[in-house]
Amino acid sequence: MTLAARARALIHPDHLHANLTALAARSGTPLLLPVKAGAYGHGLPQIVPLAAAHPDVWGLAVATPREAQVVAALAPGRPVLLLTPPTPPEVAVLADLGVRIPVASLAEADALPAHARAHLKVDTGMNRLGARPEEAVEVGVRLAERGQLEGVYTHFATADEPDLRFAHEQLRRFQAVLDALPATPEPVLAHAANGGAILSFGALPGMRLARPGLASYGYVPAHLRGVLPLRPVMTLEAQVTHLHTALAGETVSYNGLWRAPQDTQVATIGIGYADGYPRNATRRAQVLVNGERRPVLGRICMDQLMVDVTGLNVSRGDWVTLWQPDTLTVTDVAAWGDTIEYEVLTGLGDRVERVLAP
Ligand SMILES: *Cc1c(COP(=O)(O)O)cnc(C)c1O
Repeated sequence: MTLAARARALIHPDHLHANLTALAARSGTPLLLPVKAGAYGHGLPQIVPLAAAHPDVWGLAVATPREAQVVAALAPGRPVLLLTPPTPPEVAVLADLGVRIPVASLAEADALPAHARAHLKVDTGMNRLGARPEEAVEVGVRLAERGQLEGVYTHFATADEPDLRFAHEQLRRFQAVLDALPATPEPVLAHAANGGAILSFGALPGMRLARPGLASYGYVPAHLRGVLPLRPVMTLEAQVTHLHTALAGETVSYNGLWRAPQDTQVATIGIGYADGYPRNATRRAQVLVNGERRPVLGRICMDQLMVDVTGLNVSRGDWVTLWQPDTLTVTDVAAWGDTIEYEVLTGLGDRVERVLAP
């Protein structure tokens, strides 16, 4: 018998489906859905089959060769693009799996196995990966000659900010590369937009795919809220493991940060920073108990946190909500933890069970 998890992430397939539909409509292209880092913490076995069945999803994008292998197995027949450079032995394995290879130099192009499909990566200003625009065209020509140029892409550094001047400059550099590439039998699949760019720009001329990550999972920068009705895809819950009373004047948790002003009903919850709930949210965090916002008391621990449940009807084994789609979202938790939604979601640990919500 497998024993139950103390914390669970409920995945809402209907929210994911609607988000993908809305993002594809706004970009005017099919999606190359980023599912790196375990689908932004939502779980590859849960998200990949849902995404692969969506009519607007062309393929899936991952960050590491290992992820590419896992995703290729979960989505047979679906294109998978690796977004970071593989080593030569990895290229051979990935090409056999049908994974699309990112290429940024003539040497990489020349080392491709004949059956590999490549996406030319252009560095237009992120300065992380890719060929500089002035070198990229030559690499693209070589890939096209070899019949291996399926796609060409770049990545924005600032598309989620209100000031879009640098994003426009990156787009201009990318368009110049696209214009200089030779014609291929199949039109090359150009892609640039992350979620921020789709929301900010809408359809971009010449683009044939888009790569919205965080927005697909339902989160949007504050200045872009309302552009699309996106909804968070995850609810996070954890169980009450113990109930007790802290007497007036006593402290709760490590370092005595919180002292009970009067006798207080305390619920101990089975989730902590080892599960990815940010320890930095100590002194600010709240949770939902029976739908009511209640404060977390004192220091958030590795495996547990304590909540004031005075006056509520709570039993051991009840589920408390750490975040959910409407009120009290990952955006709130990230703010309490001095971090961003990306880090909170991708930090969710293995002890958190991912289950599809009914
Ligand atoms: C992570 C990533 C994305 C998705 O970015 P979001 O900000 O989550 O939309 C797109 N493209 C590349 C290359 C990435 O690394």
